[in-house]
Amino acid sequence: MAGLDPENWESLRALGHRMLDEMLDNVQGIASGPVWQPMPDPVRHEFRQAALPAQETALETLYEQFSRSVLPYATGNRHPRFMGWVHGGGTAEGMLAELLAAGLNANLGGRDHAPIEVERMVIRWAAAMLGFPETATGVLVTGSSMANFIALLTASRAVEGGVQLRRDGVAGRRLTGYAANTAHGCISRAFDMAGLGTEALRLVPVDADFRMDMQALRAMVAADRAAGLEPFLVVGTAGTVDTGSIDPLEALADFAEAESLWFHVDGAFGAMARLSPDYAPALAGMERASSIAFDFHKWAQAPYDAGCVLVREPGLQAAAFAQSLAYLSREDRGVAAGAPWFCDFGPDLSRGFRALKVWFTLAAFGTERLGGVVSQCCAVAQHLAMRVQATPSLELLAPVALNIVCFRVRTAEGDEDALNSELVKDLHESGIAVPSLTRINGKRAIRAAIINHRTVTGDVDLMLEALLDLAEKRVGHKLERVAA
Ligand SMILES: *Cc1c(COP(=O)(O)O)cnc(C)c1O
Repeated sequence: MAGLDPENWESLRALGHRMLDEMLDNVQGIASGPVWQPMPDPVRHEFRQAALPAQETALETLYEQFSRSVLPYATGNRHPRFMGWVHGGGTAEGMLAELLAAGLNANLGGRDHAPIEVERMVIRWAAAMLGFPETATGVLVTGSSMANFIALLTASRAVEGGVQLRRDGVAGRRLTGYAANTAHGCISRAFDMAGLGTEALRLVPVDADFRMDMQALRAMVAADRAAGLEPFLVVGTAGTVDTGSIDPLEALADFAEAESLWFHVDGAFGAMARLSPDYAPALAGMERASSIAFDFHKWAQAPYDAGCVLVREPGLQAAAFAQSLAYLSREDRGVAAGAPWFCDFGPDLSRGFRALKVWFTLAAFGTERLGGVVSQCCAVAQHLAMRVQATPSLELLAPVALNIVCFRVRTAEGDEDALNSELVKDLHESGIAVPSLTRINGKRAIRAAIINHRTVTGDVDLMLEALLDLAEKRVGHKLERVAA
């Protein structure tokens, strides 16, 4: 038999339907199991010792292995009590879109076909959602790390003579960019990958609310100009990864305009707050950015992976990335028509149909309901912050601007940093909740990012109770839970 299609479509179809049913059951019942459980050694070894298969394995066997050894040991981000890092929860609708996209097996690098029009629609919707002009260009990518990188390269090639950098490299130009010291690590990595070097990214101090200090920014740009460097970019973050703080975006937009700098916004998760009438005002100024990076897989709940970059000025993204290659020639009709292609807007040529799950997510729920999820998550975060402040043995470590709460357990005795680190690991292993760790003003902090549409106040209450129980076990005495 030629090719790889199944010999027996009927049995494959039956198995496929079973997979679909069982996965939907699993998503539906996600809250009833542990958030996370450690992978037993034998399961880990199954993967580490498996040899490359030379012969066929029945799909049924593989599915059995998936159900037994993969499904129970996932990260847990679909669970309402997953609060670590910034992980979206996913949706059943998004999952079904992935199924359809995989069935179609489209390549969105370019050419003239309907999936390309879906991505163009989604990019146009993204622009409308964030207050960018309809003429903005953009592309769906893996995540905000790649989106920020694409924006940085676009910005560096938009400086005077910047397009020459594509041929000559950056040698001789001393381009410098500015971001608050609370910016995500991918900004620094973008400078690294772009060949500008991480030193070319100047980290600006922040104020008591973890927002970029504009005075310091002004002084740093002036000093660099005086030293003969070429400031070209300022990055504002809408929702910093540690505390969810929002840089003064309006002031940054004014400053960038006055100084002829490219104003980029990293809105990885925070940009979605524009859909919430309660939180949109806090993002004022974001819509004035030259470019923005954000994720659909975080607060918008699309399944991984789905990041997005938008560039305001038409033509600049293609000027930074497009090539002219004989084997990718653009024609006036036939499959090779439809220029510009998405491969002109970033480093990827072959690209999957991420746009389908983004389309289904935005359309199935609508921006009002997605904005409602943002408001709900922020309300849960406020509730958690209030509970922390009302508990004498807990300490709130940062103001709660959006959906992230940084706090820690206080004890009179011992190393509080070590205690809090151990407690977070205890909590993970309990299966009850998964917050993560960070450091705030030098102190080890327990960090709960409420980003999952399934999380309600009862979930953070449960997390706190479990945390205090575990803390009492470790310190060996009762902790004060209510103010005297
Ligand atoms: C998550 C995050 C990133 C990185 O995005 P990925 O999608 O993980 O690549 C960048 N910036 C901020 C503020 C983030 O929260």
